[in-house]
Amino acid sequence: MNSLNTEPQSLNTAEKPFRKTGVADISESPLHPRRKSRRIMVGPVPVGGGAPISVQSMTNTLTADVPATLQQIAELTAAGCDIVRVAVPSQDDADALPEIVRKSPIPVIADIHFQSKYVFQAIDAGCAAVRVNPGNIRKFDQVGPDICKAATDAGISLRIGVNAGSLDKELYAKYGGPTPEALVASALKEAHMFEDVGFHDFKISVKHHDVITMVQTYRLLASKGDWPLHLGVTEAGPAWQGTIKSCLAFGALLAEGIGDTIRVSLSAPPVEEVKVGCKLLEYMGLRKRKFDIISCPSCGRAQVDVIQLANAVTDGLKSITAPIRVAVMGCIVNGPGEAREADLGVASGNGKGQIFIKGKVVETVPEDRIVETLLTKANEIAEQMEADGQVPVNATGPVVIPIQHPNKAA
Ligand code: SF4
Repeated sequence: MNSLNTEPQSLNTAEKPFRKTGVADISESPLHPRRKSRRIMVGPVPVGGGAPISVQSMTNTLTADVPATLQQIAELTAAGCDIVRVAVPSQDDADALPEIVRKSPIPVIADIHFQSKYVFQAIDAGCAAVRVNPGNIRKFDQVGPDICKAATDAGISLRIGVNAGSLDKELYAKYGGPTPEALVASALKEAHMFEDVGFHDFKISVKHHDVITMVQTYRLLASKGDWPLHLGVTEAGPAWQGTIKSCLAFGALLAEGIGDTIRVSLSAPPVEEVKVGCKLLEYMGLRKRKFDIISCPSCGRAQVDVIQLANAVTDGLKSITAPIRVAVMGCIVNGPGEAREADLGVASGNGKGQIFIKGKVVETVPEDRIVETLLTKANEIAEQMEADGQVPVNATGPVVIPIQHPNKAA
């Protein structure tokens, strides 16, 4: 008997209709259900326990330069960042924390290595959370309980941030390197130490620069307990490589339901990290989608410069928060079909562009008016979507946080 079943499988489309293009519905997500994790708070932002997956980034200004740091935080917030981390390598940086915390529109996490005294100062400064790296904080075993007590008294959370590059020396020697087992052993050691003194408000990260190792490490950690997990591929590289690595690693884990908050690490301006993180979640159906463009790659049949057209439309609509989908197609092969499925589209040919709105041709314009016409129509549709309440209150993330200009902030 032939073991191969050549009969087509019934798709039972009557019960499970294919998803249509258009406004994303996160309830239709094909991903594995989210892993059950405990919930902690980072200021007003919930992390874990089914909360929306938040996007984090880290400033690269001198933290002690308060105006520059607040300016960058404002830019990150505008790009959709939910939580920001600032490095605290010196006393001047620690001294700057109270003002930064007071004026930041989003919760601030202090990132502390080596010196535990800055942990206590960050807690006193009102930081929403503190990231500690047990692998390089001196005498962490001794100061850990005091850190937990200070965090409990202040009502803030912590992150245990284990990195391949700063793994505890003993574990490095025992496992022969920063293997998944070594990174998880480091995280578990600190997690158990926190829990032994009754502290549970922490999340964990176990970052590695290698995508496969990182995924294996988080999978292993996820199987050991219900801590909320902060995903990151550390030192992922410049924007192009780092974006690919992060999308692969986060995509694999998030598809399995693993991950409660993410930080894309790029050798690029931090705002680029936030853009990648937000779009990644949008495309996975884990965050309400904003503007999206469908554009063909163009080929020998293209009768307009699709690349230039798609870039001009994307640039012109980058600040739109309505979930509008625009199709830019180079010829009549797939053009009319895609343009019909989108909220707005153009199918080009013979020096003209046929403009579609919600599947109907509304206008035919000469090629040199395609961009201007699409931008005008897109803005009209976006305004209507807003009037109809289709734009989430905070289209960029899970929490509503007003953006304040640092100079005007209270
Ligand atoms: S839509 Fe037309 S121009 Fe664009 S890739 Fe397809 S065939 Fe080529």
